[in-house]
Amino acid sequence: PRAGRAVAATVARVDARSLSVSYEGVDRRTDALDGLTLDIADGEPVSVIGPSGCGKSTLLLAVAGLVAPTAGTVLVGGEPVTGPRLHTALILQDFGLLPWKTVAHNAALGLEIRHVPAAERTRRVGEALERVGLAEFASAYPGELSGGMRQRLAVARALALEADLMLMDEPLSALDALTREDLQGLLLDIWRQRRHTAVLVTHSIEEAVFLGSRVVVLTPRPGRVAAVVDNPEMGERGFRDTPEFYERCAELRRLLDAEGAFATGVTS
Ligand code: ADP
Ligand code: MG
Repeated sequence: PRAGRAVAATVARVDARSLSVSYEGVDRRTDALDGLTLDIADGEPVSVIGPSGCGKSTLLLAVAGLVAPTAGTVLVGGEPVTGPRLHTALILQDFGLLPWKTVAHNAALGLEIRHVPAAERTRRVGEALERVGLAEFASAYPGELSGGMRQRLAVARALALEADLMLMDEPLSALDALTREDLQGLLLDIWRQRRHTAVLVTHSIEEAVFLGSRVVVLTPRPGRVAAVVDNPEMGERGFRDTPEFYERCAELRRLLDAEGAFATGVTS
């Protein structure tokens, strides 16, 4: 069964218009984003990459409705974002799982918060766990799962939500290389099936190119769009092994270098 196919008309285009976000601290103010403008079409998978601390997570939080713009606006489906939205899923690096709840319960969390009836929850969670290969672990606890399985569970939660917008903040960064590649394949397959809008923040150039039909490069803090690289071959079979793939990665490395992303030896 195909889990999490978006039922409603998918209206998940994202428009960030002159988006600025500042954090007010006790004795200082940090400008995280400054006039960032970015359009993402409905159903488009975009990767975002940039120097450490440039505001990537802030961008996702603003699109998710969890952080309010200081200036400018974010629209999802043409509507200004004023708070969490029913079909927006946020997937984080540290899984965001509750250790004392079962796998099935964790997958259902987003549905509970949104008051989806129990029978409907059970059906959607069952399909979602099936899709990510965790059906037989439904009654296990997160502590019994490997890192890769925990991140599959986080993906299942997004599928159960029938998310038409998946915001992913370095979701695979904590995984070992093989598991990471496996999960990249899963994310690509799921996108091919569902064609949801996807915004993937990553510090891996290869991952950005593998999973984004465009790759957005941000400036150092305060973040703005430095460059957008078109990546039309994304999703084609065997793309990872082509000269185009390597060229695209090299181009991004140059762009990131120009933004000083490698100055400290890290690009997270
Ligand atoms: P990135 O994800 O690109 O590493 P973030 O969006 O997490 O960057 O952070 C951008 C800047 O805003 C950083 O300087 C960070 O320290 C600061 N920042 C992030 N969240 C907060 C917060 N809640 N309060 C104050 N400063 C914050
Ligand atoms: Mg971050």
